[in-house]
Amino acid sequence: MLTNLSFVPLKKQIDEIRNKSEQVRIGVLALQGAFSEHCLALYKAGAVPVEVRTAEDLRDVHGLCFPGGESTVMAKLLVQNGLTDRLAELIQNGMPVLATCAGLILLSREIIGYEDQPRLNCLDISVCRNAFGRQKESFAEETEVICPKLSMHEEDRHCLFPAVFIRAPQVAEAGNAVKVLARKGERILAVQQENITALSFHPELTENLLFHNWLYEKAKQYKKSGKC
Ligand code: GLN
Repeated sequence: MLTNLSFVPLKKQIDEIRNKSEQVRIGVLALQGAFSEHCLALYKAGAVPVEVRTAEDLRDVHGLCFPGGESTVMAKLLVQNGLTDRLAELIQNGMPVLATCAGLILLSREIIGYEDQPRLNCLDISVCRNAFGRQKESFAEETEVICPKLSMHEEDRHCLFPAVFIRAPQVAEAGNAVKVLARKGERILAVQQENITALSFHPELTENLLFHNWLYEKAKQYKKSGKC
């Protein structure tokens, strides 16, 4: 007969095991758009992707990824699913973020011409949607980028990245705390603001893991820091 059986709720036991594991879990917003491609790239980088549709899915993640897609639809679903405040809170507390295309739009402070479109207002940029034309004007171009940094003390490293543009937004204006990582002429294509890296193009559609590796390493640091 079993004696002295102390009852620990299952959920608590699972949480304890999860927290002890070495896994770096990255929440990928999975309401619409190219989330599966990001999940695959994150697996390749060494992370465990977690599809996020509700606030409950954000439990125990160490980083966040916002895919491309259609920002108006995603914004509506963010609000409907009650995710807006929790996501903004996690990002403001320093959780590492990689946002691409529509994801960049969702994080921005201002969406020019769409002032009523819900957004997280975590990244001090104003954006112009569809700045490179329509779907059939999509293109890929080797683009010089400054690699995103894991710490602000690192030197700038430049590389060429095969950037894919699909109805891509352009950053029209970036605040003082925002570092520009890539441009096409006068147009800003990629930025970093502390824990956030945001791109107007689609790294998940290439074999190059530069940005997913950055997110993985940054999330690993964040997990170690015990802030999440
Ligand atoms: N044009 C889309 C929007 O404004 C973004 C396109 C994309 O994510 N590829 O939401």
